[in-house]
Amino acid sequence: MKSPSDKTLLGLDLQELTHVAEQAGEPAYRARQLFHGLYVDRLGSVDEISTLPQSFRNWISSQRFEQGVPYIAQHFASTDGTVRYLMRLSDNETIETVWMPEGDDGEAGDGSDAGTEIQKQTGREWKRATICVSSQVGCAVNCQFCLTALLGVKRNLTAGEIVGQVIAVLDHQDVSPPLERVNLVFMGMGEPFLNFENFIKAVRLLVEGVGIPDSRMTVSTAGIVPRIYDLGNEGIRPKLAISLTAANDELRSRLMPINRKWNLKHLITAAQEFPLRNREKITFEYVLMRGVNDSDQDAREVAELIRGVKAKINLIALNPGPGIEYKTPDEKRVNEFQQILIRAGVPTFVRRPRGRDIYAACGQLKRTLEATA
Ligand code: SAH
Repeated sequence: MKSPSDKTLLGLDLQELTHVAEQAGEPAYRARQLFHGLYVDRLGSVDEISTLPQSFRNWISSQRFEQGVPYIAQHFASTDGTVRYLMRLSDNETIETVWMPEGDDGEAGDGSDAGTEIQKQTGREWKRATICVSSQVGCAVNCQFCLTALLGVKRNLTAGEIVGQVIAVLDHQDVSPPLERVNLVFMGMGEPFLNFENFIKAVRLLVEGVGIPDSRMTVSTAGIVPRIYDLGNEGIRPKLAISLTAANDELRSRLMPINRKWNLKHLITAAQEFPLRNREKITFEYVLMRGVNDSDQDAREVAELIRGVKAKINLIALNPGPGIEYKTPDEKRVNEFQQILIRAGVPTFVRRPRGRDIYAACGQLKRTLEATA
């Protein structure tokens, strides 16, 4: 089996591409042209980067550099316009990436579509779209309600594989710059903060190369507290979302065992100390499970817990799946839960599931071909 090649171009930043150019005896501006061809123009192969002299292109292929966009092995389209992509990587591992087009009435920025009906989308009629990006093959975090957890973790994705998912989807959907209607959420398979270096490098390439501003990106963590502080120190960074899902340690440790390592006190302190930008808020995601964490009392505990954090809440009714023992609450309960939080002064939105019929919704990504067969 091949491991991710160290001769993959996608994922290299300008400095690293400059090094490649130097090796070929080319001046530094050739690296900038290469960077532009890879990330801005998203050309499928180096041969197509016509600004580069043929000699440099030949040298690159003689060195067996690969361009490195993940291969779309399969894709599934939902009735709501969502498309789930199964992507094959160079070592044959597979990951999933989700394309979610929205009407004109969704809430921008973090893939949420609060309190609105999603306009039925077909083909390429969309006002705004969100790409849900994976950060690892599988996941090590073991949240008890998430299908990805059942896989365990195989490996981290490289920065090139993270950027490559976005490029593969944009190409497949025929989206060309300027990408002002595209949002990214790092909420696919894996825990981005357990692959922090590659994740943040990918963010920089997506901002500086592909051209998606970091203000239109959101990263979600299960609560890897030291990396929350690290994110706060980054100049270029997505907005922060934290998967909360329980407002007391006893329940959260049961549902999200990572809470035993970094409990709610540590998590909420990190959220309070997170350096927010102008008008920015932290999003807390709360997966509602019937009879487990969806009572009035639970809602009041949530409001109490996050008091003093500049935050909003996204409620997600559990998306069910095989091997998950928890149940989805009915809509009435979800709405009542939302109202308690709103009355307590917390902006709270309900995230409607996208692409449940094709197993593309939150917590359903499991890189199975059988799931929709
Ligand atoms: N590892 C990161 C990002 C991936 S999960 C994290 O945990 O935040 C993205 C979101 O999906 C998280 O908020 C997670 O709690 C939620 N989720 C996981 N399983 C789910 C399920 N079965 N139904 C609904 N949401 C789920």
